[in-house]
Amino acid sequence: MDIEVVKKYYSELSDNEIKRIAKSDAKGMVPEAIEILKNEIIRRKINPLLIEEIIEQNISYPLQPTDKAEVKYSEKELNEYVAILRTLPCPLCNSSEKKLNAIYLYAVKSPIIYIKCSVELLIACADCMNKKNIKSILLTIGLGFLGVPFNLIFIYRNIMERKQIKLEKPNKLMIEFTQKNMYEIQKNKSESKSLKKIIARTFPFKHTWLYGGLGIGEQYIGKTRTSSIRSPFSKARL
Ligand SMILES: [Zn+2]
Repeated sequence: MDIEVVKKYYSELSDNEIKRIAKSDAKGMVPEAIEILKNEIIRRKINPLLIEEIIEQNISYPLQPTDKAEVKYSEKELNEYVAILRTLPCPLCNSSEKKLNAIYLYAVKSPIIYIKCSVELLIACADCMNKKNIKSILLTIGLGFLGVPFNLIFIYRNIMERKQIKLEKPNKLMIEFTQKNMYEIQKNKSESKSLKKIIARTFPFKHTWLYGGLGIGEQYIGKTRTSSIRSPFSKARL
């Protein structure tokens, strides 16, 4: 791909064209083109939340696995399985007092040389979700202050996730997670030990991506995009 050609192409589009692409046409773009588009948004001082929309379209959230998703189930069954998963003990504090739900944790760390953004799926009780959510916000404030605008976007997203924590009923993410893992859940429905493992297994999938460059405002130059898999909750009691 000729980067100069792409740069020229975007620089000649109208603001409205740029907005339209960022909003609904950025899925599957190569990282170099994403960076050029993002820089164009920053250069023109168009709504920076558009950058979030681009990220959103290009994040593959850690809702694994889907390979064996061709399982037939009724809505009633789905609700039953959601209810079963929600009554498991919390993977973090082991308490069965509160029903489990799911949220995403968003974090940005930006040492001088790169910006590291991560999205993590957490299934836990409301207390643990609350603690982890606050921790992600503080971490992004403390370690992500050079990661403009991602730090602001991610802090905002964490604050939005707080609504999900307070819900008594199963939230959308919890239902989606159950759907995606239906094959395994059906197979292990009467084995709470195995079900606990299914919840636990979601934890190691953490989507991380890095932006190289100086990591300051307009100067980040995206080059590296990596997905790293590690286990942030390896010490959790399961
Ligand atoms: Zn807990």
